[in-house]
Amino acid sequence: MEAGMKEEVLGAVARRNVFLSPDALEMVMSNSDPLSFVNTVLSALSKSAMFVSKKDIMDCIAGDKVLFESANERVRKNKLVSDLAVASGTDVTGCSTCEGKINDFVVYFKNRFSMLSKILRENRDFMKSEPAGDVCSIKRAFDRGGRDAKIIGMVYERSETRNGHKRIVVEDEEGKCTVLITKDSPMASETFTDDEVIGVCGKPSTKGDLFIANKIFRPDVPSGRRWVPSDSSASVAILSDAHVGSHTFLKSQWNAMISWLKANAYESEIDYLILPGDVVDGIGIYPGHDKDLDVKDIYRQYEMLSEYLKEIPDHMKIVVQPGNHDAVRPAEPQPALGGDFAKCFDSEVILTSNPVSLKIEGRNILTYHGKSIDDWVAKVSGMSYDDPARAMKEMLVRRHLSPIYGAKNPLAPEKKDYLVIETAPDVFISGHVHGAAHLDYRGVKVINASAWQGQTEYQRSHNFSPEPAVMPVVNLGSGRVDMKRFD
Ligand code: FE
Ligand code: ZN
Repeated sequence: MEAGMKEEVLGAVARRNVFLSPDALEMVMSNSDPLSFVNTVLSALSKSAMFVSKKDIMDCIAGDKVLFESANERVRKNKLVSDLAVASGTDVTGCSTCEGKINDFVVYFKNRFSMLSKILRENRDFMKSEPAGDVCSIKRAFDRGGRDAKIIGMVYERSETRNGHKRIVVEDEEGKCTVLITKDSPMASETFTDDEVIGVCGKPSTKGDLFIANKIFRPDVPSGRRWVPSDSSASVAILSDAHVGSHTFLKSQWNAMISWLKANAYESEIDYLILPGDVVDGIGIYPGHDKDLDVKDIYRQYEMLSEYLKEIPDHMKIVVQPGNHDAVRPAEPQPALGGDFAKCFDSEVILTSNPVSLKIEGRNILTYHGKSIDDWVAKVSGMSYDDPARAMKEMLVRRHLSPIYGAKNPLAPEKKDYLVIETAPDVFISGHVHGAAHLDYRGVKVINASAWQGQTEYQRSHNFSPEPAVMPVVNLGSGRVDMKRFD
């Protein structure tokens, strides 16, 4: 038992390329939870630290700042009032209108089209592009007899001609046409998805319905946009896909993360915590799911999560959002956990829909569980589960979280399309694929927030290796993203 633990401790140390002196190792092993303890020490180490002695650990415990990265210049701005709100109109909870009638879908797609056309009309690059002037309807573009035009359409069908040219059928509220991209155009390598909305500058044919594309635009995040630093010194931590109740829930890594938060969150001003879905493992989510469960009672799973969250330092504001493993409808947008599930949580915990936009200290945080990544990977060339941030970037480009309709990710036909990214966010968070990645796209901090579940039998049989036990922390002032590892 002890020998196994020692190996685990040494493994954790080796992964960080750090060496423990014999007396430091002895000290770690004498702790009641050596792995959590060593992880806490490791996460507090400065990046340059290589050799750790017993004295270093003592200093670390005593609060001596030597081991803490940049801690010596940090002064907490005594700000104990949190500044977090759900952005109005972004939470579907209690606002769902759909009954699943055919007409609901008509209304839903009309709304998607109008919201995305509005964003396209705000895209300066599109509006400045030739021909000068405003967008016209597809019908009008063809009525004007072969003059260059600017149109907006939703992708209805895609194919390739025998000569390798791309044909994209697009439609607006009144008409339809076939956008032709010749095979030697730079646009030929671009990726298109079904049901996305695009802007096209080009020339309509005088006969037939061909519209020869010169340039294609996406709603996108404005080009040249950058992260503008603010004076906020607070940070947001993200814990995705906890999967409490799963047989492979990573209890010791989770405990290490909790100890680290207890030791550091207050001083480092990590004042907010977001859980973007799959907060419990749920029941009956995939065939044979019960074999992967430790806790088969879903209420008990939420109670356990709530108990774990009580360990989070009191000053941290917690937001819980559902994912596809949670006890709400699977169709997106998903409403917040309700009823008896909601009662499991302290009144302090904020339960929101999936997706939702949060306003935190002047920043716009878009959080979406990320189930649509399954469709991106299955339907869009060049996408893979190894690169979830890329799929998230493509969502920003299209300003839609789940453009493809009728694939694996179910969408509920609400009167308003809650999956449209109405406001370009400052931070965009997802989980679902249990990867850990981040990138900056035009000033948006794009973060995929790992998981707290090890590989399940089901994932193993699907050849899927997760990257668990990583907690991203994003600073709201500087935009710096730290991936805190507790493996
Ligand atoms: Fe998950
Ligand atoms: Zn999920």
